[in-house]
Amino acid sequence: MSVRVRFAPSPTGPLHMGGVRTALYNYLLARKEGGVFVLRIEDTDQTRYVPGAEDYIKEALQWCGIEPDEGPDQGGPFGPYRQSERKDTYARYANQLIESGWAYYAFDTAEEIDAKREEAKEAGQHSWQYDAATRMGMRNSETLGAEETARLIEGGAPYTVRFKIPSSEEVVFHDEIRGEVRYNTDVLDDKVLFKSDGMPTYHLANVVDDYAMKITHVIRGEEWLPSAPLHVLLYRALGWEDVRPKFAHLPLILKPAGNGKLSKRDGDKFGFPVFPLQWKDPESGEVAAGYREDGYFPEAFLNMLLMLGWNPGTEQELFSKEEMTAQFSLERVVKSGARFSPEKAKWFNEHYLRSLSPDDLAHAVMHFAPSFTGVSSDRMPAMCAMLAERSSLLPDLLAHAYLYERPTEYDEKTARKKWKDNTTELITELRGYIAGLDDFSEAGFDAMLQNFVQAKEIGFGTIGPVLRLLLTGAGGGPAMGAIAAFLGKEEVLERIDAGLKKLG
Ligand code: GLU
Repeated sequence: MSVRVRFAPSPTGPLHMGGVRTALYNYLLARKEGGVFVLRIEDTDQTRYVPGAEDYIKEALQWCGIEPDEGPDQGGPFGPYRQSERKDTYARYANQLIESGWAYYAFDTAEEIDAKREEAKEAGQHSWQYDAATRMGMRNSETLGAEETARLIEGGAPYTVRFKIPSSEEVVFHDEIRGEVRYNTDVLDDKVLFKSDGMPTYHLANVVDDYAMKITHVIRGEEWLPSAPLHVLLYRALGWEDVRPKFAHLPLILKPAGNGKLSKRDGDKFGFPVFPLQWKDPESGEVAAGYREDGYFPEAFLNMLLMLGWNPGTEQELFSKEEMTAQFSLERVVKSGARFSPEKAKWFNEHYLRSLSPDDLAHAVMHFAPSFTGVSSDRMPAMCAMLAERSSLLPDLLAHAYLYERPTEYDEKTARKKWKDNTTELITELRGYIAGLDDFSEAGFDAMLQNFVQAKEIGFGTIGPVLRLLLTGAGGGPAMGAIAAFLGKEEVLERIDAGLKKLG
């Protein structure tokens, strides 16, 4: 059977980078196996719906190059791909479960349930749940009987449909990453599957749709592992055990330091993005950073996510999309949490950035900062070539204003340390060499400087730093010859003159 996987986000806010990793692993498996990658929007919980979130998810996937084969925008043979548009299907299966005795109507209000919980707490029992042990003390079709149940429903009483978890049974299933997983049903509660507003909950909708969409592998975050035994029971109850998809629960992404899951708060605290794209909260207006806006390449971002929980079994760390696709397998996904490192994220970007040709890099910079006018597009590749080795993120390539603006200030520390009594005289002489130089390439400029220090019998340290100071205002930066070649003879001479006026 050909592989069909799905990424099933709920549009409750921006997609966390962990969500992008889930999408990536699903996508890679589909591509590797020649299968199909489905995007399904799980929007049945209307109380948690956030406007703009679905568009955000799609845009994020698009930025990453994780294109769905089937989805709300792509269509496909198993649509619609938005759960709010599939309402009728779920009611049918909720009824089937009631009729077969796997589910029941419950009329308890939230207040009544709270009261039960309180009661249990006072009696010293802190983990009350609606389950096989407590069910018979509640207001539901199991305790009220068929007639009263029918009367209540006809009278418009709000209800939920709950799954009847069998008591004291071992649910055993195989997880592609964790191996055998066991849960005793006594820890599970009678989850709500359906509500009288006509909407299913996640559990019912998810299982029904995975079945309807012929999903072969459910690959999702570890936080869903405790739901898996319920899903296994649902497949059994619905008579779909023979087509139950394989499960693979991905390891958690851990904070850079300490215990626990990587959260948005860690990003705020340490100054790194946890979202692929910038997100502006529609209610608070608060803006959260995104990898795209911070100047990461999607290729590097994906490479970083690939390695957060998977390894190839070799030393290789850098992967093109083709290599990822060829090598990815669920067997090499790890069980234990994967620690996120913001430095490593930059490292991946740095490598990708430096692997690009000056032309491609220039193109990326212009796309990243379309309003940047400091350097014309034909000079952009030269600037990028000069700066690539000292840049990690795209904005680093635009952080050297002296390449297109004359310095107005000069680094005081360098001036104090390096500007000597004979500096003005030396620079004036060097100016003559520069004015006479024909080959104004990096190599030509370097050779000229070399000749100059030899002729004057001085060390490079006597002239290099002050020349840099005059040309850039700074104490450090890319190679002198590269800067000079980039600026051109005329500009170099003018900067020397202007600098001498100020410092000489
Ligand atoms: N809608 C769920 C989520 O938001 C999907 C979980 C799953 O893949 O089953 O993560």
